[in-house]
Amino acid sequence: MPGYIHIRNLKKSFGSFTALHGIDLDIAEGEVVCVIGPSGSGKSTLIRCINLLEDYAADSTITVGGTPVQRGRALEKVRADVGMVFQSFNLFPHLTVLRNVMLAPMRVRHLPEAEAEQRARELLRRVGIGEQADKFPGKLSGGQQQRVAIARALAMEPKVMLFDEPTSALDPEMVGEVLDVMKSLAGTGVTMLVVTHEMGFARQVADRVIFMDGGRIVESGTPAQIFDTPQEERTRNFLGAVL
Ligand code: ADP
Ligand code: MG
Repeated sequence: MPGYIHIRNLKKSFGSFTALHGIDLDIAEGEVVCVIGPSGSGKSTLIRCINLLEDYAADSTITVGGTPVQRGRALEKVRADVGMVFQSFNLFPHLTVLRNVMLAPMRVRHLPEAEAEQRARELLRRVGIGEQADKFPGKLSGGQQQRVAIARALAMEPKVMLFDEPTSALDPEMVGEVLDVMKSLAGTGVTMLVVTHEMGFARQVADRVIFMDGGRIVESGTPAQIFDTPQEERTRNFLGAVL
């Protein structure tokens, strides 16, 4: 089984520094994979390579749904299939919440405005902020803005959702509302790759947990395997420090 996301020998350097040392990873359609590990271990670099926000070594391969992730015409298809949510919400401040969610489907998918609006309102309701649709992002709390960012990514009907520490910039009381949206997304068939420090979320929601350190996957397994019976010393040390 090649997996929906297929990564082979993924290497990435920044100048003389090697951030990823040949990652092999297959993620099945609909699978929810959480990536944990210390700061600087390459988690962001790994997920940024998947939609080519970072380029990578020429002898590495990444495919998403069978389409190679590389410069050229196919990249548009990959980017349309892969939604991304970052630590910083990156909403357009001069557009209302509703317009933020409508924009890509209209521009990229050429969806008629009325249809884009209907779908955007539905998605905003789904993430619990239907009543905020006509406000500007700056008027919303961090947790609400991050839910808008999730709705905006979902508006493109992605096959894959990449999350890079989506709750790390939030005040603690807002973390739960964003994790709840992500929980409800898991199991809907969308493939999810989530970099997170929320070990409770990873344990509860992930089909598989990957521990990275030093640009390598040190260990991966079910949440029970990783959290209850980690095999590698580096995993145990990391979990000992964060749990
Ligand atoms: P993580 O997300 O696990 O904290 P990153 O993927 O952001 O780690 O970074 C992995 C390593 O690559 C770190 O040592 C970081 O300093 C380095 N790095 C990341 N992006 C760049 C960049 N644009 N230029 C130089 N070094 C980078
Ligand atoms: Mg990071």
